[in-house]
Amino acid sequence: MDLALNYSLIENYKNNSQKARILTEDWVKRNAFCPICGKANINKFENNKPVSDFYCERCKEIFELKSKNGNFSNIINDGAYSTMIERITSNTNPDFFFLTYNIKKYIVENFLIIPKYFFTPNIILKRKPLAPTAKRAGWIGCNINLSSIPNDGKIFIIKQCREIPKKDVISKMQKNIFLKNSEVSLRGWILDIMRCIDEIKKEEFTLLDIYKFEEYLHILHPNNNNIQAKIRQQLQILRDNNYIEFLGKGKYRKV
Ligand SMILES: [Zn+2]
Repeated sequence: MDLALNYSLIENYKNNSQKARILTEDWVKRNAFCPICGKANINKFENNKPVSDFYCERCKEIFELKSKNGNFSNIINDGAYSTMIERITSNTNPDFFFLTYNIKKYIVENFLIIPKYFFTPNIILKRKPLAPTAKRAGWIGCNINLSSIPNDGKIFIIKQCREIPKKDVISKMQKNIFLKNSEVSLRGWILDIMRCIDEIKKEEFTLLDIYKFEEYLHILHPNNNNIQAKIRQQLQILRDNNYIEFLGKGKYRKV
């Protein structure tokens, strides 16, 4: 992959967000492959939609591009809160590409995909409504909180200017694909347990290691009064989908 942005494209533009959009969309068109089926390139929807959408001609997957100048961070500013919630809960919801670039060097530094099934409404944070004196008074924007997404849901294609082998990207996508078939209402629980597993900094762990998150999970799911049973059920789902391996006697290993 060529990390360079083609700045000759923006010579005649003044508006910074327009410049950013032209540079990053062009880069994706020239460099991105489809992380689902591996097709060597993806296409841009040629329409006047306010979002940067791409699609794969072969597997028909849709991707929305979000980009940011500067360092990679867990909080990403986005547009209207209601539009975002509507989009991620619709049945045509896209996967998200996040791209960070360095405008001084005109290069792409990070490029990752977050599969759509990792986007649940709880990772979208409401911003304060704009002040009554603002031009769009009362408008509510949102932030995307990437720290609420399990590590396996953040699949880097370029990380700190280093390209990750294509076959690794595709196999990481495949590892999580079972989530696609789980209902949105049930998926929240699986993702929460995946995040707890992330927090355990060892390859093998026990049921007791996960039970330590009982209080935290109860805050997230206040109506559930049998958190331990729910934990065991979710571990079973993760085991059945080869996300973790069951070693017997309450012991598990990360796959
Ligand atoms: Zn594809």
